[in-house]
Amino acid sequence: MKIKTSENLPVKLIVTDIDNTVFDWVTYYVRSFSAMLRDVASVTGIPYAQLANESQEVFTRHGSIEYPFLVQELPSVDKHYANDIDRMLVDCADRGRKVFLQTAQAHLVPYQGVQDTLEEIRRRFPDVPLVALTDAPRYVAMWKLNKLGLLPYFSAVYGLADPRIPTCERNGRVKVDPEILLKHLQQSSFGFKGRIRILPDEYEKPGTRGLKTVLMDYNLDEDPAHRSSVLWIGDNLRKDVGLGERLGVCTAWAKYGVLSSQELYESLHEFSPVANVHKNASFADGDSNAPQPTHILEKFADLLKFLI
Ligand SMILES: [Mg+2]
Repeated sequence: MKIKTSENLPVKLIVTDIDNTVFDWVTYYVRSFSAMLRDVASVTGIPYAQLANESQEVFTRHGSIEYPFLVQELPSVDKHYANDIDRMLVDCADRGRKVFLQTAQAHLVPYQGVQDTLEEIRRRFPDVPLVALTDAPRYVAMWKLNKLGLLPYFSAVYGLADPRIPTCERNGRVKVDPEILLKHLQQSSFGFKGRIRILPDEYEKPGTRGLKTVLMDYNLDEDPAHRSSVLWIGDNLRKDVGLGERLGVCTAWAKYGVLSSQELYESLHEFSPVANVHKNASFADGDSNAPQPTHILEKFADLLKFLI
């Protein structure tokens, strides 16, 4: 048995994006983040719009919209609690974190059929490595895959640098509850047995260096014939499919991951750095110059159609 690619070659490696490809990231993140920010607003009396505005700057500074210590980095929150870091952590940051997690519970679920499809691929092709490649910080990516129940299916996770631990500018004190900090450090790999690689920030998609690193690690970079036996799955036509096209690998476009809700889009816009909106949500592309995927997935399980 083998997986059929466009050139009818057996697949040697499957690489997949995570956000909006194996689960609905936009719904999960917008709902959880805005619930957290609304809670911060209610506790401190600082308007939501101001907190959202300041969030953009913090996300830009930390290079990720999924920066997990956002609340303690917001200037207006810092000012509100003056020098009382302990009170800020308990009354605001930790409380907000719990609201985020509680809201996330309902939304952090794989798209329908993802788990069964991965199970089937693992069962039928135990020797084909399955790699997650993401622009999210490595820790955040593994945290999400673990919560989604999908981490054990992967052979490797490639992500960007782990989030920086925030410290107080005045006295250098760590602005994270000690228990949370320990949890963060101890659970850094969630018992994952596979390969973990942290890529430099400049390897971010749509650059090809992240995927190229994966190809090199699996010795599939040199020979162009080898490259066409690699399947790369992602939801973003320009960012994911485009880079796959440039590297000459087979691409599968997760068409179902395209954002269709105007309301979610507007909420995301409120707190996301403007340049990031189109990185974190993909849109239907009417442009005929858009990259052309090898395969179009109406649902994740369509991958199994390539099985012969
Ligand atoms: Mg994506």
